Amino acid sequence: MRITVLAGGIGAARFLRGLLAYRPEADISVIGNTGDDLTLYGLRVSPDLDTVMYTLGGGNDEAKGWGRADETWNALAELQAYASTPWWFGLGDRDIGTHLVRTALLSEGRSLSEVTTALTARWQLPVHLIPMTDQRVETHVTVEDPDAPEGRRRLHFQEYWVRHHAELPVVDIEFDGIDRAAPAPGVLDAIAAADVLLLPPSNPVVSIGPILGVPGVREAVLAASAPVVGLSPIVGGAPVRGMADKLLPAIGVDTSAAGVARHFGARLHGGLLDGWLVDEQDAAAVPDVEELGIAARAVPLLMSDVDAAAAMARAALDLAEVVRR
Ligand code: GDP
Ligand code: CA
Repeated sequence: MRITVLAGGIGAARFLRGLLAYRPEADISVIGNTGDDLTLYGLRVSPDLDTVMYTLGGGNDEAKGWGRADETWNALAELQAYASTPWWFGLGDRDIGTHLVRTALLSEGRSLSEVTTALTARWQLPVHLIPMTDQRVETHVTVEDPDAPEGRRRLHFQEYWVRHHAELPVVDIEFDGIDRAAPAPGVLDAIAAADVLLLPPSNPVVSIGPILGVPGVREAVLAASAPVVGLSPIVGGAPVRGMADKLLPAIGVDTSAAGVARHFGARLHGGLLDGWLVDEQDAAAVPDVEELGIAARAVPLLMSDVDAAAAMARAALDLAEVVRR
């Protein structure tokens, strides 16, 4: 069975670990968000691709959810001793090894998708990890800032998220470079050839949003013969981890399981979803989602361990069979 997943960072990585536990024999393609990518000290960093790679490769820091296990921070301390900025992004010594290889290969002219294949070879990943695009796309947010000349300021999403903990009021979110981006080699094929398409519980705005924004990707999902099933990242009216509740209102989406389903839309009516899973605590939202034309089920959606994530993967694949046309 060919399964294609559109993936952000932590939410996607944990879900994928469950999917692999439930369906180890499946042929899984993961289309990764690169809107979070940034350059720090000359190093090209791909936070979401690395979270998926480290998690599925068994090299992740389980407690933090991002970065490498057994990390040390000597290089960052040296950089800070030079009063270099930015000081707010956690670059561990082991992690820097990944970024050095990525940056070196890119500067030799290799594409990000080629570089990602080279990096994932080390980890013997049990999935095909493909960046959404080889072109540079960076998510920027415009925030209110009374000290800025026009009362607002534009900054990289990572600076807003990591440095400012999403505490600045967001006026606008833009995916810089997306109009000129093309799907990376393999992306459209992975969507067209899939038997099932899954939207894991990733951030709908800054993880799934950029992937769908790459010209041709949304159209490919809409045209795919496979059923499309998503899992809500919002449980009980709040994100399980992170600060997605700061971003959903900025694009006019209600912070609820049904609100996110409405945002993606029903395939029946030109949207993306055939099926949507909400957490048991949001069972009351099931009729609202079905009213939109999306098949919905309420199941436990907390990825407390791999077994719990595997049960979510099973529920998603079961729902895909129910809605398969
Ligand atoms: P990021 O790029 O590292 O922020 O990761 P993603 O975009 O893939 O996932 C972030 C989203 O995952 C957040 O909006 C969380 O609400 C969601 N999330 C994290 N853990 C869980 C969980 O156990 N269950 C569910 N349903 N969502 C989760
Ligand atoms: Ca991310």
